[in-house]
Amino acid sequence: MDCLFCKIIKGEIPSSKVYEDEKILAFNDINPEAKVHVLVIPKEHICCVDMVNKDNSHNVSYIFEKIPEIAKIAGITNGYRVITNCGEDACQSVKHLHFHILGGEKLPEHIR
Ligand code: 5GP
Ligand code: ZN
Repeated sequence: MDCLFCKIIKGEIPSSKVYEDEKILAFNDINPEAKVHVLVIPKEHICCVDMVNKDNSHNVSYIFEKIPEIAKIAGITNGYRVITNCGEDACQSVKHLHFHILGGEKLPEHIR
C-alpha cells in the first residue's frame, strides 16, 4: 500500500518524532499551521474517521488518552485544538487517520 504515513511509521520516510509507543506515533507536521503542530496517528492503517468501527476504535480512544501527554511533551501549556479531516470536502490530503494537535500560541477563534 502506498501510504505516506505508513512509510513514516516504518521509518522509510524520516519524521521529527514527538512520541511513539507500540500503538501510535506523534510527529511534527512538515508544514506547521501553528507554533506547535503535531500529528498523531495509529500504527494500524485506518484511512479516515469514516472507517472507524467497533474493531479498530480502540486506536481512537487510545490516541485521546495520550493526547494530553503528547501536548505536554510538545511544549503546549495553555490549551490546544484537535482536528481531524475526513474526505474530500474537508480537504483530507493524507488518507491515513490522523489528529492534528495545534497550540503553542493563541489560535484564531474560528477555523474555516
Ligand atoms: P490533512 O490535510 O490530510 O488533514 O493533513 C495532512 C498533514 O500532513 C498536513 O498538515 C501536511 O502538512 C502533513 N504532511 C504531509 N506530508 C508530510 C510529511 O512527509 N511529513 C510530515 N511530518 N507531515 C506531512
Ligand atoms: Zn497508512
